[in-house]
Amino acid sequence: MILDVLPLELMREVLLDLPTVDIIQTVKCTRRLHYFATEKDKALGRRLQNCIILSGRLCIGSIFCWKCGNPVLCLYLGTKFFRANDAATQWNHNSFDFWFEGGCKCWHINGPKIEPDLLNHPSSFYESHLLKGFENRTNFVINNGSLDDAVINCGKLFNILTKFSIVRVFRLELDSSDGHIWDKMNPFFNANPPDLRIQSYVSICNVDSEIKLDSFSAGSIFSNGLVEISIRSRFKPILVNAYHEVFRRTPNVFFSGITLPYTYEDLFGFFKDTKELTLGSVTRITKQQLCQLVQNFYEVKHDEECFFKIGIEEDFLVKDLLTLIPEEAYSLHLKRSGDIGPEPEMMIWAEMTDRFGGRWGLMDITVYELGIVRDENLLIICSMKYFNEDSDQFDSDQSDSYQSDSDQSDSDSDQL
Ligand SMILES: [Zn+2]
Ligand SMILES: [Zn+2]
Repeated sequence: MILDVLPLELMREVLLDLPTVDIIQTVKCTRRLHYFATEKDKALGRRLQNCIILSGRLCIGSIFCWKCGNPVLCLYLGTKFFRANDAATQWNHNSFDFWFEGGCKCWHINGPKIEPDLLNHPSSFYESHLLKGFENRTNFVINNGSLDDAVINCGKLFNILTKFSIVRVFRLELDSSDGHIWDKMNPFFNANPPDLRIQSYVSICNVDSEIKLDSFSAGSIFSNGLVEISIRSRFKPILVNAYHEVFRRTPNVFFSGITLPYTYEDLFGFFKDTKELTLGSVTRITKQQLCQLVQNFYEVKHDEECFFKIGIEEDFLVKDLLTLIPEEAYSLHLKRSGDIGPEPEMMIWAEMTDRFGGRWGLMDITVYELGIVRDENLLIICSMKYFNEDSDQFDSDQSDSYQSDSDQSDSDSDQL
């Protein structure tokens, strides 16, 4: 085998330049290389022993500082370490803040400052800053010139991280009112594709109806597709490109506060491959059609993973939606509602057994926005396996929590 005869010095240079996953694949091939990389060579050894599992969240938007009123551009990252002979794993959150002219510089004054030029020397940057920083929950600051420089440097840093660590979870969070920072960063990634080998999460808030979706289906950063796309607003804009293929191809699709053109037929047409669908927004679906939806789950075999939350503006209770299925197919259950008032309200949820023996939970849930009830109700329908009778409230402002990222990484950890 050629790897057994090549000089180690040469192999070392080649290996150090590879993404961590590829180093592992390569040194697995021969005992000689494996020994060299894990025992002999210091730099390679560090790459492998301090193999970083990264859960990344790239957060771009008009987050304005309350102190100075200037915009803040942040790249947040959570990282996780695995060391040889160390069973205890630690989950550390780190952040990278990009300073630029006209942007906020109020915070993270104690974090180490990184000169942008270091980003052009990935290996030494990794050795000198990242490894140590990640062990100590560090807030890094990258001091840039203009906002345009900051955008490019943020892209460079992201590419370094994807190369030197194993990325398990990645979530892009965009605030659409950001002045098109993402529109500038996406071309950078198309010209310099990051080494991202997973499917990502995309979440966009404050969308206007003109939102460009192509970068999420065709951009190089998302070449593996998405796990989830979520779109939120408070102002119910009309989504003009609601039939964009990114919504058809992504398994989990979530809308909240958007005026959507979808009809009942779309639930099993356009969304026929969707696993988890939340239309927490105005649609063209009527109460009568929700009855048909329940009937469809009764009569047609659905994947156990199928999870629908469909909102309409009419009021309804779940027991009103069972008119098209036989009585013996469902049972009603009482549950005390979440509000503990003088007269606690009881709410009803239903369990339905479909024609094939599959068990489904059905519940109506109230939509809250900033703690206020919105004039919209949602029907939840999902397998009893995933049903939780305590999820009778839906907070449309709830941002996807970071928690879920770390949970996911935890469960993935034994694969290494
Ligand atoms: Zn920050
Ligand atoms: Zn500030």
